[in-house]
Amino acid sequence: MNDELFTKLEIPAGKVIAECPCCSSDGELYQFQKDKDGPASKVVMCANGTAFGPQIGVANEGCPLYMPGDDHYRATIREAIAYWNDYSKELQAIRRKNSWARHSALRAQEGGAA
Ligand SMILES: [Zn+2]
Repeated sequence: MNDELFTKLEIPAGKVIAECPCCSSDGELYQFQKDKDGPASKVVMCANGTAFGPQIGVANEGCPLYMPGDDHYRATIREAIAYWNDYSKELQAIRRKNSWARHSALRAQEGGAA
């Protein structure tokens, strides 16, 4: 990340950051300051900022969670990690549920009545 408003932080001992629920890259912890001497918030972001597929690598490249939405920005490290981990767990559960439903529907189409 080349923006000096973001400072990468060490993950505190005993804390685990879940994998990115979109692309399975690592989640990384940052401090964010809009102004150099202004208030700081904490955020966990996906480590994957590399353009892929049709992305042209000018802006918003990489995983959608490389620059996650405003609600990921939290007052404390503990809150930022908890938000990311809950978000990751729930999004992965939604993916599994929808994937299972889609495959079940396909199997029903292919195999006829079970
Ligand atoms: Zn990702």
